[in-house]
Amino acid sequence: APAPPPGRHLFSDPAEVEALRRNLLAWYDRCKRDLPWRTLAAAEPDADRRGYAVWVSEIMLQQTQVATVIDYYTCWMQKWPTLQALAQASLEEVNELWAGLGYYSRGKRLQEAARKVVSELAGRMPRTAEELQKLLPGVGRYTAGAIASISYGQATGAVDGNVIRVLCRLRCVGADSSSPAVIDRLWDMANVLVDRNRPGDFNQALMELGATVCVPKSPLCGECPVKQHCQAWRRKLFGKAPPVPDVEDCVWDCPLCPPATEPWDSSLGVTNFPRKAAKKPPRAMRTATCVLERRGCHGAPEYLIVQRPSSGLLAGLWEFPSLPLAQDLQEEKEKKELADHLQAWMGRPVAATGLQFIGEVIHIFSHIHQTYVVFSLHLDGDVTLDPALSPSRWVTEDEFHASAVSTAMKKVCGA
Ligand code: SF4
Repeated sequence: APAPPPGRHLFSDPAEVEALRRNLLAWYDRCKRDLPWRTLAAAEPDADRRGYAVWVSEIMLQQTQVATVIDYYTCWMQKWPTLQALAQASLEEVNELWAGLGYYSRGKRLQEAARKVVSELAGRMPRTAEELQKLLPGVGRYTAGAIASISYGQATGAVDGNVIRVLCRLRCVGADSSSPAVIDRLWDMANVLVDRNRPGDFNQALMELGATVCVPKSPLCGECPVKQHCQAWRRKLFGKAPPVPDVEDCVWDCPLCPPATEPWDSSLGVTNFPRKAAKKPPRAMRTATCVLERRGCHGAPEYLIVQRPSSGLLAGLWEFPSLPLAQDLQEEKEKKELADHLQAWMGRPVAATGLQFIGEVIHIFSHIHQTYVVFSLHLDGDVTLDPALSPSRWVTEDEFHASAVSTAMKKVCGA
């Protein structure tokens, strides 16, 4: 087993742990934001409904800002207030409501898991973090800890990105905070710190502190309710570590200190922590997209959309007919490939010269830098599409916006 980290990275003084809990919870009671899922979790007497309400919020909040989530959450809970209601919804309805929130597989997985709870667990939500993680697809360690502590009062930590930042600063953890070994240590800390009487509030308070005070770039240390417990703050106030090491100082190969090659940078202050290994740059992709237009029966323009495969990026969402392209093709060649693709699909000749270039639209997914090369094509008369290929339908512009289409396709539509 790896050696335990030196004392400065731990919360080993019970009196300090008590004081930190007290200060943080008092601040939370005074300053917490009113959020619809907090109101629901506090007021809902039914344990399964309460767990479901917190679960939906946690899944929506993964990689999405609170301000964006609020309206989606309210709509979702009005439409599907219980697990049973969600289990009966169609994937199409779920995708439509989720459209614009990003990371679309989250909605689909949430619905699959709700169906599992209804059909295999008799509609009863698992009550502990361990069971939640084991039994619910798409529920990882963090989400399980959040649901169990907030809905069921289990004294377990919940470590998300905000909590990682706060803990790394509180205890000067400068080793790569995305490495499994460091993440495990942060979970140990969170499990030690969590308040035994108010675990859900404590976890939310730690996250709230990270979201509103201990923010990534310019943390508001002067207003921080736990600054007296913060090693990074102390280090900033007193400058360099003292020349004579004391018992709390780390040895040179401490697994939680910054690497020796990247020592403390006094110009960064507390934002020396956390540190992450450099991310891989996103992969560049080019995709040709065709806005196919025809006159509908009332003379209004209609556009063709097709459904993406049920797995992979943007699974099950609708888009204008699209074709991934090799990098570095000439524009004429890109047009030709798109024309051939449309021709095979419509079963009638499509001349590349008929495709009108509209422009390029860039959309950044978390790991992909996507360039859509947008063309348009006006069709006369009716078109029969090969039903063996992807499902497709003609929609008006309003119907397009109400459909389960990605933000990227909405950008293409506005091009
Ligand atoms: Fe974060 Fe500053 Fe508070 Fe430390 S004192 S926890 S760095 S806001």
